[in-house]
Parts: sequence; C-alpha cells; structure tokens
Amino acid sequence: MANELDGIRAQTTCPVCDRELNVPYRTLRLKRTIECPGCGETIRLIDDTPIGTVQRLIDELGEDRDEI
Ligand SMILES: [Zn+2]
Repeated sequence: MANELDGIRAQTTCPVCDRELNVPYRTLRLKRTIECPGCGETIRLIDDTPIGTVQRLIDELGEDRDEI
C-alpha cells in the first residue's frame, strides 16, 4: 500500500522561477519541503500544493482496489 502511494505525484510550480515540479507523495510525507532544481528556492509543499488533490488521488486508488 505504501509503495503505491509513493507513486503518486503532486504537481506544483516554483513561486520564484515558475518551473513545474513533480513531487512524489513520499516526499510530501517525509520532508514537506523541496528545493527547486532551477533556482534553489526552498518550497513548502503544504502551503503551495493543493493537498486535497493528492488526497483525492489516494481515494481513487482505494476505490480501484475495491473493484478488483
Ligand atoms: Zn525555482
């Protein structure tokens, strides 16, 4: 289960250089911040990422498992 969640990626955008960033759910759980590879800015994912979107993806995964 945990491994499947780690495959989910949240998409956010660096507020400094507008670079698109794909953040693994694993990183959201463990670190909650990432460093932008473009400009080095530290981005707080909880502030900048719609966490509800990630939760919805997780819920959809759960529904798929029930159907199987
Ligand atoms: Zn940046």
